[in-house]
Amino acid sequence: MSFRKKNSQGVYVLALKVGYSINITTSRFKWVLKPGTYFYFGSARGKTSTSLEKRLFRHFHYQKSIFWHIDYLTSHSKTKILNAYFTTDPMITECQALREFVQKFHEIKVIPKFGSSDCKLKCGGHLLSVSSNQDILAEYSQYFSHSNWNEFKFESEY
Ligand SMILES: [Zn+2]
Repeated sequence: MSFRKKNSQGVYVLALKVGYSINITTSRFKWVLKPGTYFYFGSARGKTSTSLEKRLFRHFHYQKSIFWHIDYLTSHSKTKILNAYFTTDPMITECQALREFVQKFHEIKVIPKFGSSDCKLKCGGHLLSVSSNQDILAEYSQYFSHSNWNEFKFESEY
């Protein structure tokens, strides 16, 4: 982990493995997430926002009250966060980062409306899916290994 300072703000990406089909139903939406790899783009930014590190720690803890759409996944026993990446570059937004990522990896699909209630750029969704028979783990870890991205290492004793 390499946050330059406490209370950092910025953008993060979660790479998640979904082991079995998961049905998620909210008051407004219904999704069926098939087994495979998923990427979630979010941010901890703004005066009232929690810090990036606190947000990422929250994602890694299974037990939590459901507040965001992503909480349905990160609290689910059949899902696992494979990797988490973050950037504190103030010029990068989660929407821009998501769009660049989608352009780079054409096999990715957007899960409609998932995690994008606050999105101002009309991304369509902030959760992306890769079908389970495609192994892009090496490719995406390489993608996040350069430029502005850092890998977040979860240590439960933090
Ligand atoms: Zn967006």
